[in-house]
Amino acid sequence: MYDRESHYIGGRWVRAAKSDRLVVHNPADEAVLGHVPAGTPDEAALAVAAAVRAFDDWASRSVAERSEVIRRFTACLKGRAALLAKTITEEVGSPASFSARVQVGLPLLTFDSQPTHASEIVWHQRVGHSMVLREAAGVVVAITPWNYPLHQIAAKIAPALMVGCTVILKPSELAPFNAYLLAEAADEAELPDGVLNVVFGTGAGVGSSLVAHPDVDVVSFTGSNETGRIVSELASRSVKQVHLELGGKSPNVVLDDADLEQCVAEGVARSMVNSGQTCTSLSRLLVPKRLLSQAEEIAASAVANHPLVDPSAEVEGIRPTVYSDKLAHLPTTFALGPLVSANQRERVVDFIRRGVHDGARLVAGGPQRPSGFDQGYYVLPTIFSNTTPDMSIVREEIFGPVLCLQAYDGSDDSAVTMANETPYGLAAAVRSKDPERALAVARRIRAGQVEINQARFNPFAPFGGFKQSGHGRELGTWGLEAFLQTKSIQLPPSGS
Ligand code: NAD
Repeated sequence: MYDRESHYIGGRWVRAAKSDRLVVHNPADEAVLGHVPAGTPDEAALAVAAAVRAFDDWASRSVAERSEVIRRFTACLKGRAALLAKTITEEVGSPASFSARVQVGLPLLTFDSQPTHASEIVWHQRVGHSMVLREAAGVVVAITPWNYPLHQIAAKIAPALMVGCTVILKPSELAPFNAYLLAEAADEAELPDGVLNVVFGTGAGVGSSLVAHPDVDVVSFTGSNETGRIVSELASRSVKQVHLELGGKSPNVVLDDADLEQCVAEGVARSMVNSGQTCTSLSRLLVPKRLLSQAEEIAASAVANHPLVDPSAEVEGIRPTVYSDKLAHLPTTFALGPLVSANQRERVVDFIRRGVHDGARLVAGGPQRPSGFDQGYYVLPTIFSNTTPDMSIVREEIFGPVLCLQAYDGSDDSAVTMANETPYGLAAAVRSKDPERALAVARRIRAGQVEINQARFNPFAPFGGFKQSGHGRELGTWGLEAFLQTKSIQLPPSGS
């Protein structure tokens, strides 16, 4: 049981004022995992004041000095890697090896890479008689979701700290314990007081106070579109810089020359990563109409590649989706844990029921509770066919293990039209035997990242959305740019 009673503010653990605690459950067995403070607006204000106090000193340090602190912080995180992975498995339900390699491996890579990215920024340059400077944008509020909790925290706070911003982190109330460990690592690494503050609580209780606070300069938010709109409106009242990383309904386009067997099996896998709770989940598989029934058969059998498991006792030999520098291909066989919460399960099951009601055909799965899983927030991997573009399962982000097959008339033009037929624009994929043809289609898709034929995720390339998937970019040097301001100093003629 994790029982936490404090926020991390101004370099020390500050006992929460309210005796109320938020309860966190283990999604695999529904047992109470622990409690965290339900932060208050006063505690939000305390954290902002600490970040404001710390800003001048931190921002004025050299890149080399800040790099040294980031390296110490990274080392302290690495020392907790196994515990972080175990904690994320317990709070999110990700299978153990997925937690170790992706949920923890990826954020460590992000932290590790900051000094290199900082060395790529042009911190000052001359433009005629002007000196152009890049400076830390100020006090940053980072608000993060639960699905890749440490990765989303790292993608914001590592670059923000690197460039000299001070930060208040408000992690998801569904998966807060990894952020606790992160604060412990910051404390052990002796980050200067107030440079990183972590406040626990709900969006309404503490998140909105942070976003609205007049002393905050930047709000970096990852989460749902609904909350993103609220955050954006609140922040606009004091004209803050806002970055939004929101949802997706990403198309996986199989062109008519692709290897159908391979592409459909991979397509099923790409929709099931982290039990479908991935913002870039390729949740729409577009196949030429004449190949639809073949695709249905392949998809129905590929579901067997994704058994449900108790995430802490993952079956040996079933590989999770992994991130590693050496990974050439996405495995098509990996296990699925439960969804994160009872609400999330209810929401996903409701979508499945609506899909059936609207006339889509179940190729695999369904709304029923998986046999052998009487407890836990498990949902069967589910595949729909006979879908139409107006169905809610096709239009809306489900955020669960649900894949929709969509049939296009076979031409590349109609594939592109269908791929772009969504208010979202976060990710996409194109599969073809002809890489030039795939690239031509990829260029026409309105999305922030498009992968061609099993190309793997690049944690140093810019990440973010087109259209209603948000704005701003994270990761790589683009991640640092998001937390910089630009200043021009006009210099007088020499001798004046
Ligand atoms: P959510 O919007 O419910 O919550 C996200 C965070 O916002 C939480 O920390 C929450 O406490 C906080 N919050 C809620 N109301 C708030 C308010 N009024 N003011 C300030 N903060 C508030 O999202 P979630 O359920 O945690 O995450 C799932 C969503 O996140 C999905 O839609 C998914 O697509 C999206 N997501 C996007 C990306 C991306 O990079 N584009 C990555 C991961 C997840």
